[in-house]
Amino acid sequence: MTASVDTALRGPEAFSLSRRVIDEMETAGVWPTPLNFELWLHYLGDPEGALGREIRRILDAQEPFTEGTADMLAAEYLPRGRLTEEIRDAGRVLDRELHSISEAIAKAHRSQTAYGQTLDKASARMDGVEGGEQLQTIVTGLTAATRKIQRENESLEKRLEVSTREVARLREHLEQVRRDALTDALTNLANRKAFDEQLTAACEAADAEGEALTLAVLDIDHFKRFNDNWGHQTGDQVLRYVASVIGRVAGAPRMAARFGGEEFAMIFPRERVDQVKTALEAIRREIASRSLRRRSTNDDLGVVTISAGFAIRRPDESPTLLLERADTALYASKRAGRNRISSAEDLQQAA
Ligand code: C2E
Repeated sequence: MTASVDTALRGPEAFSLSRRVIDEMETAGVWPTPLNFELWLHYLGDPEGALGREIRRILDAQEPFTEGTADMLAAEYLPRGRLTEEIRDAGRVLDRELHSISEAIAKAHRSQTAYGQTLDKASARMDGVEGGEQLQTIVTGLTAATRKIQRENESLEKRLEVSTREVARLREHLEQVRRDALTDALTNLANRKAFDEQLTAACEAADAEGEALTLAVLDIDHFKRFNDNWGHQTGDQVLRYVASVIGRVAGAPRMAARFGGEEFAMIFPRERVDQVKTALEAIRREIASRSLRRRSTNDDLGVVTISAGFAIRRPDESPTLLLERADTALYASKRAGRNRISSAEDLQQAA
């Protein structure tokens, strides 16, 4: 929670702010679920902030405010999204510390073993030496002390083994939390935050290696009409269907994400333009190949189609500009009648 909202919730205006949140949610027709309440609290607590502006945009555009929308906004704008970086760092620090502790113990163990062996040898050589009995007593005492330390060391190692297993379990859990924070809950694809990170990294890698990079944006045709006709729950099923088809084509090194309400994006590193076209065509054709049924009533929902646009990254082009060109290509597909794929490069040539 941002400091200003946090302070407001503990100040004199706390109850009036909370009431206003409920009123505004009711006016907007948004269910007062805990997550929606939290989002609205930030929105009204800081209407000019990034989250406030995005919620206003959604309301002004009369886009449906579904559970999926709330999840996406939370992942992108709520401060808990920042946790992912901290979680990753904490995992790394834990790993490093454990590694250096176990190294130190192993080293101590090795030198103690060597020391014990030296004492044993010395003790054997004392046999028959004049006045050796006294020396042998001293060495035997030292050997016993060394063995004791070795035993303690062994028990320390066992404890360390247990701790290492515990830390591994903890890391796995942190990794799961991190994955959840980067995943769109409705479609199971990467969310916008993960996509932004990945696109920046892919641009940097493409620059470093001088490799090709293509970005595609895909959008479900007439999705709003679909939602209005059949309700948001069915709309969510359509999103899941489209996402499942996209996900099947987006194996590594490709990456697919739910980018906005009914919009998806795909990154194609190191692929030729004909490979990208073939993949996008396969997605478009498969989605349009069957008509869906409404689960609750078995009504025929008809065929869903998508439009897509893609752009090949120019040298040193920023993620924002690349995205803008892919978007322009997407809108060319929409204008040309939907259910098709356009390339920014073809558009430029035609112009
Ligand atoms: P889901 O409902 O969780 O289904 C997951 C997968 O189980 C589907 O992946 C499909 O392989 C299988 N499946 C589920 N129900 C049926 C069925 O009645 N017949 C057959 N043959 N297979 C079934 P798929 O196809 O990739 O779909 C992914 C998601 O897309 C589904 O998740 C659902 O949310 C949505 N979806 C797909 N087709 C339809 C549909 O015709 N109507 C509705 N309402 N949603 C659909």
